[in-house]
Amino acid sequence: MSDLRATFVSELNYLAQGLADDPIYAWIVQETAAREIPQIQVTPVQGRLLHLLAKLTNPRRILEIGTLSGYSGVWLARALPADGRLITLEMQEKHAEMARDSFRRAGVADRVTVHVGPAMDTLSTLVVDAPFDLCFIDADKPSNRRYFEWALAHTRSGGLILVDNVLANGRVIAPDGDEYGRAIAEFNDYIFTRYNECSTIIPLFKQDEDNLDGLLIVRVP
Ligand code: SAH
Ligand code: MG
Repeated sequence: MSDLRATFVSELNYLAQGLADDPIYAWIVQETAAREIPQIQVTPVQGRLLHLLAKLTNPRRILEIGTLSGYSGVWLARALPADGRLITLEMQEKHAEMARDSFRRAGVADRVTVHVGPAMDTLSTLVVDAPFDLCFIDADKPSNRRYFEWALAHTRSGGLILVDNVLANGRVIAPDGDEYGRAIAEFNDYIFTRYNECSTIIPLFKQDEDNLDGLLIVRVP
């Protein structure tokens, strides 16, 4: 098993060289640490995946719930045309401030709006901005179902809803006594029963945190 891990890590390093990313992404990761903001952004491989999936929807409007320091937001915003819009929701002013710096440095500030506050409150003001082509849900996990239902009602048919961290390093498998794991497992059960035919979960290895997680992808019927 540890051989497998070592192979996976060297494969990720190999990918990082072959699929070299714009230096902005490394800047965001370093600056996130320097400002003592939790380093829980998506991985480089996952950032690319978000970007590609967004591009496939030919997007004009993207919604992100959970901005952090803007890492995933830059990947998403760069999938938009110049007159497209990313609306991203963040509870903490400190994170939002760093995200605005990231969007400025990445040259996408003109197409991004960061809203500060509890996402559920902000969502009720965003009905006028719908329908979205893609929604990326990556905030407080117990709210996944409420965010998902809102996204479903406000994403166009054929659009995508993505939900991060749905495997939680195995905590969803036997979540007795683990409230975080149980909340995600309940959300996954809801997806498995209702959206089985238009969804998948991609397991993802997070090299730095040394854990395994997953990204849910749902195509809106
Ligand atoms: N999508 C980011 C990571 C987001 S981390 C990336 O991959 O780069 C989760 C973020 O959600 C944190 O910044 C946290 O402050 C924010 N958050 C947590 N609860 C929230 C809520 N109720 N409303 C809005 N944001 C919330
Ligand atoms: Mg996440």
